Amino acid sequence: MHCAVIGSGPAGIACAKGLTARGFKVTILDIGEQLPAKTDALAKELAAMPVKDWPQDVKAELSRNPTIKDPIPRKLYFGSDFAYGTDKPYAPLDSDNSAFLPSVGRGGYSTVWGAASLPVADCDIKDWPLTRQDLEPYYREILNWMPVSGGDGTIETAYPSFTERLGRLPLDRQSEKLLADLKKSESKHNPSKFVYGEARLAVDPGRCDPCGMCLSGCPRQAIYDTSETLNQLVDGKAVVYRPRQVVHSVNETPAGVEIIVEDLESQSRQTLTFDAAFIGAGALGTARLLLNSKRLFNESLTLRQSSKFLIPILRAKGVPSPWAENALALSRVFIEFKVQGFADNWFHVQVSSMNQMMLEALNLAPDQSRSWKRFLASPVLNRLMVAWCGIHSDHSAQISVSLSPPDTASEPPTLISRAKETEKSVLAGKRAARTLFRNGLSHGTLFLSPMSRLSAPGTGYHCGGSFPHRHKKVSTFETDLLGRPFDWENIYVIGGSVLPSIPATTIAFTIMVNALRIATQVPIASGKSHA
Ligand SMILES: Cc1cc2nc3c(=O)[nH]c(=O)nc-3n(C[C@H](O)[C@H](O)[C@H](O)COP(=O)(O)OP(=O)(O)OC[C@H]3O[C@@H](n4cnc5c(N)ncnc54)[C@H](O)[C@@H]3O)c2cc1C
Ligand code: SF4
Repeated sequence: MHCAVIGSGPAGIACAKGLTARGFKVTILDIGEQLPAKTDALAKELAAMPVKDWPQDVKAELSRNPTIKDPIPRKLYFGSDFAYGTDKPYAPLDSDNSAFLPSVGRGGYSTVWGAASLPVADCDIKDWPLTRQDLEPYYREILNWMPVSGGDGTIETAYPSFTERLGRLPLDRQSEKLLADLKKSESKHNPSKFVYGEARLAVDPGRCDPCGMCLSGCPRQAIYDTSETLNQLVDGKAVVYRPRQVVHSVNETPAGVEIIVEDLESQSRQTLTFDAAFIGAGALGTARLLLNSKRLFNESLTLRQSSKFLIPILRAKGVPSPWAENALALSRVFIEFKVQGFADNWFHVQVSSMNQMMLEALNLAPDQSRSWKRFLASPVLNRLMVAWCGIHSDHSAQISVSLSPPDTASEPPTLISRAKETEKSVLAGKRAARTLFRNGLSHGTLFLSPMSRLSAPGTGYHCGGSFPHRHKKVSTFETDLLGRPFDWENIYVIGGSVLPSIPATTIAFTIMVNALRIATQVPIASGKSHA
């Protein structure tokens, strides 16, 4: 069977791995924008030498992020925004106050993600036609090739690690102290409502030489990025990878699955035929592709997402100059909790220590010649940490998406995305912040709840749910357990779009797991083989 996989992000690559393991022929069609060659060369220059020898000007150049003070800052990859699909003539977008942008990069958003990786909990997927037990074999399988690090705490009781090989990453002093205080307060918490632990991160400790650049890109490729697995699949001749290909539509015909692609180099369109197609184009890319394939203009789809809010934290005891460490800048502590008298869903907290990027956001970085200010602020900065909190999509804002018809047949239609903030996300955020404040007192942590700020919908990029899996499809925009939309038999949706709701915790790991499950369970397409 010859399969087309659309996209090279977590969904596409996990699916491609599953299909090739079954002996199917796989062609990956991908927009696949890349890091500019000059920047890539600079990153490789750093990777080739020990961190202590890194030229500071090169490190500064690759850590540059001019969006840091924007209303909706973006995480860049070595200063480049190549992964984000803004202003692309081949995929026009009209987005209002939603922070969620389509991905167009090689590796999808795994190039810029925070690598936070937890499995789902059953209480958060009650509306899925699947349980965690159904997914468990696929979590285990993904962990055979994706590194995940973690460690101590009570988090294992609610979120099993599904591997005996959890890596251990070095802890910075602020995180170490927080974890120690959480441990001391363990007996004060009901483990069915409050668990904590070292952050579960898709980071390979064997490659990490702490350099503090995690929020700008990892020169040593310790943070897992699906491009690496893609390279292995291509080098091993397990897949054919075709970048610079924009898939505009898919359709089932008696001849097979027909895919209309635009080659960005030659600017020409052609029709390719496969036995089956697997769509992992990200939640917005998938919505655009499916609506366009069926010419469903001005029909509104609902994207579900996990709303996020930030709370500054003051610790009872500080550590001197925490920002001076070259420590990992990813979140190093997770706290999962439920709110008394609220829905039975986990809220998720990722705690980050003070680092150079935070100093920059506060205008206190050394190169801004305000170090006297930083000196005066030290007693506070030494105690300051930041909690980034997630809310289950049932209590979060939603994003509505539709396709506006093009003026001429040769132009692509425009995707319109509108965020719908709701009272319930504001309320859920407030309830969660109050619970954090109360819980925090038991472990010497003051969550500054009155300063909590709800981020714009889509900020965490934990989005999906527009073509949810159902046991039995009822409405037009639902899919069966294999992700098949409409009346199609050999076209499968494999990304976050098919997850019926979005837990507060993390999403990419489960997207990979579900994509692998689909790839493992699809029947062999009947009819003509496009070998
Ligand atoms: C800054 C940031 C931090 C994040 N941190 C985390 C985190 O810590 N933990 C977590 O779980 N999640 C995180 N996420 C979310 C996570 O990265 C996404 O959920 C995940 O990447 C989605 O995977 P995907 O494969 O479905 O889609 P994507 O990663 O969006 O990949 C889509 C792919 O499809 C291709 N494509 C799109 N349209 C077309 C088309 N028409 N034709 C051909 N190819 C196409 C693109 O080139 C790309 O390769 C983060 C996201 C961002 C942006
Ligand atoms: S500290 Fe972060 S950026 Fe540096 S090597 Fe480790 S994971 Fe990569």
